[in-house]
Amino acid sequence: MEKSVGKTKIRIIQGDITDQKTDAIVNAANSSLMGGGGVDGAIHRRGGPRILEECRKIRAAEWPSGLPTGKAVITTGGNLKTRHVIHTVGPVWKGGNRGEPDLLAEAYRNSLKLAASKGLKSIAFPSMSTGAYGYPVEEACRIALKSVREFLEKENGLQEVVFVLFSQPDLRIYEDAARKLL
Ligand code: ADP
Repeated sequence: MEKSVGKTKIRIIQGDITDQKTDAIVNAANSSLMGGGGVDGAIHRRGGPRILEECRKIRAAEWPSGLPTGKAVITTGGNLKTRHVIHTVGPVWKGGNRGEPDLLAEAYRNSLKLAASKGLKSIAFPSMSTGAYGYPVEEACRIALKSVREFLEKENGLQEVVFVLFSQPDLRIYEDAARKLL
């Protein structure tokens, strides 16, 4: 599915985030920045050791006790087709009353801000927090679409934002929400 917000094209597709050729892909990282399962595991596996090396340096220099939830940092894309990986940490779902919606919105916003500040033109997101972190996908997806829309209504340097859904059911949920929200 394709939509647009201002001059920016929004694409919602089924696929693997590590196949994307956008200027940046977003990693659903954890605070350690030292790799993990799901998206994080796939990115480091296919992207090779240079990504982890940069993550180590960023941790040592800027975030010795870990990257806080909602913040974002950028590294090389290593061996991936993308030039950059933006690592952000979504919230762990704890029932919805522990600030999860704001933290998830922050993770999207800070990733977009970082991409825009580096002059990048395209970025691809996975469905942040809805895997191991347990965020219900229907709710997470509304926050994802709204945060991106609100960001693009203010800043329009980005040409393309892609949502890459791993499963067919998740794709359907995103497409249904996009019809209402975009
Ligand atoms: P989190 O820890 O933020 O919940 P996960 O990586 O566990 O992140 O999962 C986030 C979403 O990404 C889930 O819907 C999961 O199915 C999906 N996913 C897992 N691997 C990939 C991949 N290679 N490309 C795109 N999406 C993926």
